[in-house]
Amino acid sequence: MGLIKILPWIILAVIALFFFSRQKQKREREAMEEELKSMRRRLAERNREGSVESSEMVRCPHCGTYFPKNEGVVKNGRLYCSRDCARRG
Ligand SMILES: [Zn+2]
Repeated sequence: MGLIKILPWIILAVIALFFFSRQKQKREREAMEEELKSMRRRLAERNREGSVESSEMVRCPHCGTYFPKNEGVVKNGRLYCSRDCARRG
């Protein structure tokens, strides 16, 4: 008899739990999508500016000096700090 009395409550609790977990999943998914969106926005901004890429520091394979990538000299697919190093490297 006791079981029959509490059975509706158990069903109700299961339904409530199911509902809450669905809500939680939905919120988490929304948060994730928001995160993705902001990440994409940041990437797009970075691509538009192009400054991060060009001001990236690279190491010269000949003298070992760090210099901005956009100021380098390319020779045989390698990036050197100066024409001098490119010739000698
Ligand atoms: Zn160099």
